[in-house]
Amino acid sequence: MRSLWVVLLGAPGCGKGTQSEFLVNDYGFSVISVGDILRTSRGTPVTERGRTVGELLDAGELLPDAVILNLVGSELNKLSSEKRARLLFDGFPRTVGQAEGLSGLANEFDQDVDLVLNFAVGDDIVLGRILGRYKCSNCGKVFNDFFLHPVVDGVCDSCGGRKFNRRTDDNEVALKKRLSEYHEKTGPLVDHYLSTGVLRVVDASLGLDDVRRTIHSILSEKERE
Ligand code: AMP
Repeated sequence: MRSLWVVLLGAPGCGKGTQSEFLVNDYGFSVISVGDILRTSRGTPVTERGRTVGELLDAGELLPDAVILNLVGSELNKLSSEKRARLLFDGFPRTVGQAEGLSGLANEFDQDVDLVLNFAVGDDIVLGRILGRYKCSNCGKVFNDFFLHPVVDGVCDSCGGRKFNRRTDDNEVALKKRLSEYHEKTGPLVDHYLSTGVLRVVDASLGLDDVRRTIHSILSEKERE
């Protein structure tokens, strides 16, 4: 199997996280999800003014590039060379500065950014997906108030758990900020990666299975190159 570095690019609620779970199962990728890593270090101060990871996350603001690049560099160093060879980046890069940092890291590890999947979806769709989403606290299965209820009210379909939680940044105020950060700072990455010829667009307004099929056909093409 060829080595492959794939970036998942897209607005909050576009489905990157769900598809990355499929890709781990279907293709044996390893994943670096910057948001997931940050959620475990909420108390750490990361700005000169002492603002913490948790404060920035809850406000829907991006963390400084230097902090993120450090974090990704150290995650890469933790992986075996085998795991590092087939890797998904979920939620990174999110600025042009981070994209430039990522090419430096790719060089360092003798890899390329081979493919960037741009999950295209309108803000109106992500609004419903995000404001309605919640998870089983025990097994992590995702539900939604608007279109994905547990079969038995209040009981997780997968594990029978009865406790659920929502992300602290899945509220209207933080989401507005996350979307504006996305359009202003991450949007320019579309042109950045178009110019290097690795960008492919995925219509992320479709259902999970259709998105999954689209990605499979892009990846099969890539594996044959
Ligand atoms: P996510 O789980 O990808 O939706 O990310 C949740 C939050 O983590 C974002 O709203 C940011 O506050 C922070 N974050 C995640 N990835 C990055 C990144 N690449 N650069 C800066 N901040 C990030």
